[in-house]
Amino acid sequence: MSDISPEERTSKNFLEEIVEKDLADGRHTTILTRFPPEPNGYLHIGHAKSISVNFGLADTYGGATNLRFDDTNPITESVEYVENIKRDVQWLGYQWKEELYASDYFENLFGFAVQLIRDGLAYVDDSTSEEIAALKGTPTSPGSNSPYRSRTPEENEDLFRKMRAGEFPDGSRILRAKIDMASPNMLMRDPVIYRIKHAHHHRTGDAWCIYPTYDFAHGQSDAIEKITHSICTLEFLSHRELYDWFIEKLGLFPSKQYEFARLNLSYTIMSKRKLLQLVNEGVVDGWDDPRLPTISGLRRRGYTPLAIRDFCARIGVAKRDNLIDMSLLEFCAREDLNKISLRRMVVLDPVKVVITNWPEGKVEMLESENNPEDPATGNRDIPFGGELYIERDDFMEDAPKKFFRLSPGNSVRLKSAYIITCDDFSKDEDGNITEIRCTYYPDSRSGSDTSGIKAKGTLHWVSVPHAVEVEVRQYDRLFRVMDPAAEEGDFLDYINPESLTVIEKAMAEPALLHDARESSAVTGSISDGTGPHYQFMRKGYYFPDVSSGPDKLVYNQTVALRDTWAKVNK
Ligand code: ATP
Ligand code: MG
Repeated sequence: MSDISPEERTSKNFLEEIVEKDLADGRHTTILTRFPPEPNGYLHIGHAKSISVNFGLADTYGGATNLRFDDTNPITESVEYVENIKRDVQWLGYQWKEELYASDYFENLFGFAVQLIRDGLAYVDDSTSEEIAALKGTPTSPGSNSPYRSRTPEENEDLFRKMRAGEFPDGSRILRAKIDMASPNMLMRDPVIYRIKHAHHHRTGDAWCIYPTYDFAHGQSDAIEKITHSICTLEFLSHRELYDWFIEKLGLFPSKQYEFARLNLSYTIMSKRKLLQLVNEGVVDGWDDPRLPTISGLRRRGYTPLAIRDFCARIGVAKRDNLIDMSLLEFCAREDLNKISLRRMVVLDPVKVVITNWPEGKVEMLESENNPEDPATGNRDIPFGGELYIERDDFMEDAPKKFFRLSPGNSVRLKSAYIITCDDFSKDEDGNITEIRCTYYPDSRSGSDTSGIKAKGTLHWVSVPHAVEVEVRQYDRLFRVMDPAAEEGDFLDYINPESLTVIEKAMAEPALLHDARESSAVTGSISDGTGPHYQFMRKGYYFPDVSSGPDKLVYNQTVALRDTWAKVNK
């Protein structure tokens, strides 16, 4: 599948233009892209953008995409991250051609380094990092040559092999490319290509104690795989010159790097380092906390792959950094969820209504559509009786004229059921409403209403004796400010203390329990991430939490029905 098919849009993005030109010129006959995550954390929505660009481009032009783990940094990487990244990419709906690891190229990369050394294009430097920094120059003044720059290729190769053999401690020597200490591009001033790190790697174990830098590993890995278009984000713009230099000097497959703007989303953070901090410090409940912008968090919250792909397609491929409003992601979620969600009635803050003229003990089974957008989902039964719950804020003692919900003397329709009129109510000592008494009209039943009574509002409700207690988790933005990463001081100071509200006893119609029993009979759990999406009528979209099951039903609010947040906070 392709999210950004050219037919759907009037103009092509700049990457599509490049690919079309390369195919037309015969520079390439087919294209191969790659998605190169570093397995040092879980994927987030920014990665989803990169995934959709890489896989989308390959899909559009009949090419393919490799999944390459950029695992050259042993210290922060792990197998847990690798497994979750694979799961997330597949969940988003993409299938890679090959699963590859930069660490599988360590021997090739070592060979490339030796080749540069023999060509007089790399040298071992014994300087301390302070000494190296002191000779680096500034963006406006050239640097100076290291005293070790004139070592012979033989001496360099000997030292480099000793580095590999583990003869030197961490940080005592590095291998540098020999380029130009006066280059206006600071990255070309003899960049580091190998470091000594006596560290255990999650795949290569203790086989290596020298590790290549990102710059040396990335482009060469691309070339080994014959990646045609190596797409990365804008912060790598200045690395392109070095990327090309290595490939040219080593005479490798001419992979080319292209940069687009990173996705930044308002009211959240995207850096894996900061996400890890939120997880480690217990600010959130793991990498899949529904408040995080991680793919696993969004999945647990009830976002769908389609909504995320739609979002990525809508924001397009930009060349300049920008901050995308979270409400666009929410809009995309509503678009999809409206089509697929089962409608259910759940009262979050219940108050009791007694229908005084309802025949004592009578229960009537009403029927209503599971999803009016999808007739194939059929109907469900909803029991109706003389005692119901409605939302506390759907009743007002002294209602203003425009209040179309329930108040003394006013009539409302109960969704899929009858019209009722409020006669009176009781309060406790603190002034809280404890019971509302109403009359119903037997000939006003939805679908066969001959009562002629007008009711302006429609309320959701749940029959008291049939109600199922459920836990509902309501979410708000994780941060109080638009761009927490740009604020002064610690980003943790900007956490929204009210990002999670747990409603422990919401009252739900029994269909929710039936659904949970049915799916647990099939899968053993209703929350395998594919469970039904719900619309709790008049409230929002909800998804069973991973912890939910027939014994305790727990739902995460994916997104409210409408964007009330923007109105309140503008
Ligand atoms: P982070 O800063 O979150 O750790 P990263 O760039 O270090 O991100 P990688 O695992 O190296 O994370 O990223 C894999 C790919 O995803 C890279 O090509 C990277 O450019 C891309 N990517 C990461 N974050 C974003 C983003 N916010 N928007 C678009 N692409 C992104
Ligand atoms: Mg990175």
